[in-house]
Amino acid sequence: MPSILMFAPAWKGGKTLELRALRLSHLYKEWRKMIIKRDNFECQECGSRVKLEIHHKKGFTNYPKLRFEPSNVVTLCADCHSLTDNYKGRERRNHE
Ligand SMILES: [Zn+2]
Repeated sequence: MPSILMFAPAWKGGKTLELRALRLSHLYKEWRKMIIKRDNFECQECGSRVKLEIHHKKGFTNYPKLRFEPSNVVTLCADCHSLTDNYKGRERRNHE
């Protein structure tokens, strides 16, 4: 007999995920700062010190396990970042 209780675990899980995502986004900001500091607050391509972003050499989509791997990321300025081949979803998915 279907009941509202059937959905309870999923809902609870959703809540937990939300909290985890919040905590992760905070951690991610800290982690980003650490990477930029590691790279001397400079774009590793052109040496710019403004509009710094984190570039994932192996894309976010295809390599979720490498998202927080320091050796997989490099500090780039927004301009150099936009020239990378997997910038903002330009990355092709392996399974397509
Ligand atoms: Zn640059």
